[in-house]
Amino acid sequence: MSNENWFVGGEKGMKVAFIGSECYPFIKTGGLGDVMYALPRALLRQGCEVRVFMPYYRCIPEKFKNQMTYIGSFMMNLTQDGRTFYVGIMETELDGVTYDFIDNQEFFDWGNPYTGLWEDIPKYCYFSKASLAVLNYLNWIPNVIHCHDWQAAVVPVYLRTLFDGTPVGAARSILTIHNLRFQGICSIDHLKYWTGLPDYLFDYPVFKVSEAEANMFKGGLAYTDRITTVSETYAEEIQTDFYGENLNGHLWYHRAKLKGIVNGIDIDIWNSRTDKLLPAVYSEKDVLEAKRKNKKALQERLGLEVDEDKFVIGLISRLTDQKGLDLINAIFTQMIDDRIQVVILGTGDPRYEDAFRYYESAYPGQVCAYIKYDESLAHQIYAGSDALLVPSLFEPCGLTQLIAMRYGTIPIVRETGGLKDTVDPYNEYTGEGNGFTFDQYRAELLLDAIKRAEQVYVEDRASWDTLVTRDMEKDVSWEHSADLYLKLYEELKR
Ligand code: ADP
Repeated sequence: MSNENWFVGGEKGMKVAFIGSECYPFIKTGGLGDVMYALPRALLRQGCEVRVFMPYYRCIPEKFKNQMTYIGSFMMNLTQDGRTFYVGIMETELDGVTYDFIDNQEFFDWGNPYTGLWEDIPKYCYFSKASLAVLNYLNWIPNVIHCHDWQAAVVPVYLRTLFDGTPVGAARSILTIHNLRFQGICSIDHLKYWTGLPDYLFDYPVFKVSEAEANMFKGGLAYTDRITTVSETYAEEIQTDFYGENLNGHLWYHRAKLKGIVNGIDIDIWNSRTDKLLPAVYSEKDVLEAKRKNKKALQERLGLEVDEDKFVIGLISRLTDQKGLDLINAIFTQMIDDRIQVVILGTGDPRYEDAFRYYESAYPGQVCAYIKYDESLAHQIYAGSDALLVPSLFEPCGLTQLIAMRYGTIPIVRETGGLKDTVDPYNEYTGEGNGFTFDQYRAELLLDAIKRAEQVYVEDRASWDTLVTRDMEKDVSWEHSADLYLKLYEELKR
């Protein structure tokens, strides 16, 4: 049988397999989890058939595990010395999208998704190969395999080597860079052992990055049919020294197949009109009144002084240097005045967690540092704050500024990556724009942007309120971007 016969989707529809390490609502640690949830659903609305592959982590909540069906299992050889591993398939469906979970206790039965590179590299080599093997096992052959980040980056390499000539070898591949900082780098020997891939791939054009080291992302970028990243600006930035994380040369070399497509958000989950987690739901029409109620509820919940006139600034973020927290730290005491309150929700690097805890104790009733991961509080902060800070050092796309706008909360962002592509600078003369922005990574510029925002809020509330309704009306949904992905899939199918 020729490979073409396996395109069972035929002319009727596009079959797409998503392969990635996290997916809301099963497991999410950041924006990747949101995209793995929202994009398949948007593609489904465009007529695609979508299956999502992810690991069957122990930490997936029981309520989801209880809904899964055991589909089958087989043994798969993986390593250089031919060790075989169990591959179990657990399946569930959510609103038309099928989710296949790859089960193997040895790899996925402990810890959170990411435990440390030494263990994560074998784990995701196994996961990548198993996902392709499962596609063959299920005899569900997609037109396109859409791989996400370094954890799925060896998929395109497997596809064109060990799986070439098998049914799934007929599929084309896309590798999306959600964050280039994480690449899956280890010793050549370690990667060679755990992928079981042939020696010739461990040279400079593919995996090799130095005499001793190999890089999973680099190999995938070389072998995939198309590379996408999550904004047009980031697609340009990663070809430069500053943002390229040592892969800028490699990306420049492969630039003909690189494209930026900005993320959207799921506007059903992030919907202020229906959000069950909000004390007061609202649309553009009653946003001003409802925001006052949500602000009050937020202040009460977090032990802040209850005062509807305070300018409440939110920060919802992984606490890492990527997010521009050094800038915030540098200007925190200058930023604070008696009109401002700050709410921080995040976990991460202890030095940032400690710094924010310190500010909470230094400014009681005015600053709250909630050092946790908490979905429900996130919704309340988006709704109850006036502004949201995203001063990132780099930001491939960023979702928090999109969610904020949808909730009528004005973003204060650095003009980098997706922040630049999604937030138009406010122009005080024409009143145009969506948020307050600054360009260079300098603390005084962040301070200036915050003070400009505060000034409009305090002194020109009518303009502020116009900005709030305009941001709520901005299209931040997936529809347009899903269309661009579909066009890319169609190009590949041809
Ligand atoms: P990244 O993927 O770099 O972490 P994004 O802005 O793309 O950043 O996505 C972050 C997502 O994670 C958003 O949905 C945001 O609301 C959520 N998030 C981040 N930190 C927390 C937290 N501590 N509690 C709840 N949600 C969080």
